[in-house]
Amino acid sequence: MSTQEFGKIIDGKEISSQVKQSIQDEIKMMKEKGLRAPCLVVILVGERKDSQTYVRNKKKTASDLGINSIDVLLPEQTTQQELIDIVQSYSKKDDVDGILVQLPLPSHINEEIILTQIDESKDVDGFHPVNIGKLAMRGRKADFEPCTPKGCIEMLDRSGIEIAGKNAVILGRSNIVGLPVSMLLLNRDATVTVCHSKTPNLKEKCREADILVVAIGKAKLVKKDWVKEGAVVIDVGMNTDENNKLCGDVDFNEVKEVASYITPVPGGVGPMTIAMLMKNTLESAKKKLLK
Ligand code: NAP
Repeated sequence: MSTQEFGKIIDGKEISSQVKQSIQDEIKMMKEKGLRAPCLVVILVGERKDSQTYVRNKKKTASDLGINSIDVLLPEQTTQQELIDIVQSYSKKDDVDGILVQLPLPSHINEEIILTQIDESKDVDGFHPVNIGKLAMRGRKADFEPCTPKGCIEMLDRSGIEIAGKNAVILGRSNIVGLPVSMLLLNRDATVTVCHSKTPNLKEKCREADILVVAIGKAKLVKKDWVKEGAVVIDVGMNTDENNKLCGDVDFNEVKEVASYITPVPGGVGPMTIAMLMKNTLESAKKKLLK
């Protein structure tokens, strides 16, 4: 008889509060030694309600942990050159450890040009092409790893899930989630398959996964018969269901019956992202202050 247990929840709220507690403790110790607080600059252009909420949450979390955060709120009509000048000026400041430009930017501003203006050593969001390039190369180490993918790995590690040698299947290849999560898993010696909208036989590909990471933005697409018995399922998706309730890309109620471990939505990957941003900011400050 099988002794396999199914549907163990990877609790992102709990894990992220443990991460945040240790960040808070470290910052307290740094301050007791007379060092300054880490400093994060968050730049928001325009008035998108969702972006305003993210920026508010980042500020609140930073302040709870003892990180000094500076919000730079710019009008929608800010020109690309004005934004470049602002990013460059914060990049030059010694007492700024992290710079985050909230995406998406208004359509008249080229995101790629702006992200490359951030000093790589302050790129706490991990999206600078140099940091992504280092992530992709064997034997190199990125200054920072993108926050949501890093959060996925932290959840696996803290749940005691072995990565090396496992078949990892990633659904989605976006620059912010699918692609970097695949590189992080490859760096940890998983055998990685990346699937996207042109992948045939998606269900069969998913069934090969020991670790399945789903980041496609399609409510409850992944069903029970897409998942191998005992697989670990990480659901990055954030969607609304037919009742207007937040849900993931995985049909949680079905899939938890076959997965060994699974992340819920809400309360899974979501809370990890902001915790990883704070961790990257602290690491950046430590590199400068504890040299
Ligand atoms: P995205 O940029 O829209 O990328 C979606 C990816 O999924 C693309 O690679 C696309 O393929 C693929 N895809 C779409 N429909 C598919 C289908 N039916 N079958 C197979 N592949 C499909 O999305 P994203 O920014 O990565 O975000 C994905 C989800 O994660 C969203 O729900 C988003 O809200 C959520 N998210 C959550 C967090 C968090 O903190 N929890 C952070 C970021 C994103 P192609 O490349 O071929 O188009």
